[in-house]
Amino acid sequence: MADVQMADAETFAFQAEINQLLSLIINTFYSNKEIFLRELISNSSDALDKIRYESLTDKSKLDAQPELFIRIVPDKVNKTLSIIDSGVGMTKADLVNNLGTIARSGTKEFMEALQAGADVSMIGQFGVGFYSAYLVAEKVIVTTKHNDDEQYVWESQAGGSFTVTRDVNGEQLGRGTKITLFLKEDQLEYLEERRIKDLVKKHSEFISYPIYLWTEKTTEKEISDDEDDEPKKEKEGDVEEVDEEKETKSKKKKIKEVSHEWQLINKQKPIWLRKPEEITKEEYASFYKSLTNDWEDHLAVKHFSVEGQLEFKAILFVPKRAPFDLFDSRKKMNNIKLYVRRVFIMDNCEELIPEYLGFVKGVVDSDDLPLNISREMLQQNKILKVIRKNLVKKCIEMFNEIAENKEDYNKFYEAFSKNLKLGIHEDSQNRAKLADLLRYYSTKSGDEMTSLKDYVTRMKEGQKDIYYITGESKKAVENSPFLERLKKKGYEVLFMVDAIDEYAVGQLKEYEGKKLVSATKEGLKLDDETEEEKKKKEEKKKSFENLCKTIKDILGDKVEKVVVSDRIVDSPCCLVTGEYGWTANMERIMKAQALRDNSMGAYMSSKKTMEINPDNGIMEELRKRAEADKNDKSVKDLVMLLFETALLTSGFSLDDPNTFAARIHRMLKLGLSIDEEENEGDDADMPALEEDVAEESKMEEVD
Ligand code: ADP
Ligand code: MG
Repeated sequence: MADVQMADAETFAFQAEINQLLSLIINTFYSNKEIFLRELISNSSDALDKIRYESLTDKSKLDAQPELFIRIVPDKVNKTLSIIDSGVGMTKADLVNNLGTIARSGTKEFMEALQAGADVSMIGQFGVGFYSAYLVAEKVIVTTKHNDDEQYVWESQAGGSFTVTRDVNGEQLGRGTKITLFLKEDQLEYLEERRIKDLVKKHSEFISYPIYLWTEKTTEKEISDDEDDEPKKEKEGDVEEVDEEKETKSKKKKIKEVSHEWQLINKQKPIWLRKPEEITKEEYASFYKSLTNDWEDHLAVKHFSVEGQLEFKAILFVPKRAPFDLFDSRKKMNNIKLYVRRVFIMDNCEELIPEYLGFVKGVVDSDDLPLNISREMLQQNKILKVIRKNLVKKCIEMFNEIAENKEDYNKFYEAFSKNLKLGIHEDSQNRAKLADLLRYYSTKSGDEMTSLKDYVTRMKEGQKDIYYITGESKKAVENSPFLERLKKKGYEVLFMVDAIDEYAVGQLKEYEGKKLVSATKEGLKLDDETEEEKKKKEEKKKSFENLCKTIKDILGDKVEKVVVSDRIVDSPCCLVTGEYGWTANMERIMKAQALRDNSMGAYMSSKKTMEINPDNGIMEELRKRAEADKNDKSVKDLVMLLFETALLTSGFSLDDPNTFAARIHRMLKLGLSIDEEENEGDDADMPALEEDVAEESKMEEVD
């Protein structure tokens, strides 16, 4: 294991972020260093998966080394620990790219997580597990042989660079990778058999390839004197003499013989083949961790088998948290490993589970798929479609089981509610079932969220629909003018404040036969009045018709139309959107997307209807003024102000906040009886306010 620095060694600089990561790993104190072994074994297992998969279609890929294994060799003399696998290996290019020059997206995220106090054991989840070798090693040598290239050696003591060298003289691997760690002086515990065995049991028990440990065995043996001259039978290692000749009776002496052997240290019977009732929670947790690199236990597990026409076994897990890149579109999120009759096939089979369930982790082992199935074949495979259907069903069952425990469900919902909503949007077959899993705050929910089911049980007599309001946050919607009438009638309104709610509810449309109705869209009908009330209302409406026209003339294209409202009680007016158009919330979302993504060009703005409240003092005053003089300057100014404030209270944003502010300031001056300078701000758009316009209510509105 001598240094492999040779004349033709090429030196490479670590990519900047990786370099930073390495310093962090080396210089920060972490007590939990043992996880390095899990990471390296997990990489070996991945490499073995790859070559096994390749060999399904081309047997000759195994020729150079037919056996698939992981071997661990502690060397106390040289203070090195080696992990050897007969996996796919790396070409020279792989070595350079994967181990140093191309940073994974997780590199930075992991450092941020570490600095925020995360545990170093999270490293595997961020796709940089290899570098954990430097928790215990001062130098690492990677020797590797890929079928398509020669054997190469990578070597680094961190410190900014690594070298890659063609390996001509070294021991040839045939195929695979050998990682040799030159342990730091204070990390020699990882050379102890006991420690390694315990670690493998703890972190890598469910690796589906045999893990062998190079062990040392000392046996005592008696040999007769006459044998003494013969060459000693030694397997590996040394032979020591222990006993003095005098002690032995029949001219025999005892010697200690040290031999070495490969000891299998993991069970490989897949856990999913065992009976669920015989598996402990700890075993599931340990399997989950080895499957996912998660450092925490799973939140829920579902272990089942499907029998009959089609047979398969599966274990599905829900993690406790969303991964850092849950909706990163660059990364294919699919976490179900597909096995066929215990042979690993692939781990990102898109056909196995819909995208919205990409956060569910687990394994599926089918008895019916052909072993040499290719990705292309999978796309139209009928068996796979049936498996997929079953997996979705089981996932939903599992979520319902989580819902039985409030605390767990809160955790689950916080992490994955967006996925459920995406499911409602995309999965028409399971939409109704997924809707049961939704939770919202509402005008009546208090501190806890409510399900639609519970909402329905609370519905008032005579209430036909389920009401909701969408918006940016709970705070932004809970006092919205749109809720006034509904609240007054005691109707509960759900707060939908996730961007994706808007899409989901658009698809859901109803729950248990009850329509989902937006409180902010046009045509909200609440039929509850007596004939007399209706008549009075009609008359009032009529008396405001002219004002509606005047306002529409003033606002022009800013609004589609102006009508007398049915829904507001206190506010002077609000802006609603068409039943099938975008809500204010949607406009906000689209605006934000248009800003982020220039290619989208200008966003479409929604068509707005202004609803005015005939019972409001401001409107009444406005009506009088408009009737007296259609061209009253103060009417125009007030209408503009009302429109702009309504934009805000209805959840839209202002295109020109400065003009709005100028109008408000002018009004403040008026309220404070400060004289306007002549000509100041005397532009056509913004005539000075007249002095005597219902000042009190104006001031109220400014608030
Ligand atoms: P991850 O395992 O999440 O991909 P790692 O930092 O653990 O991240 O490993 C980086 C990459 O290095 C792997 O994706 C793989 O391409 C390569 N690699 C690491 N160890 C091995 C190995 N034993 N055999 C083959 N390739 C390996
Ligand atoms: Mg890894």
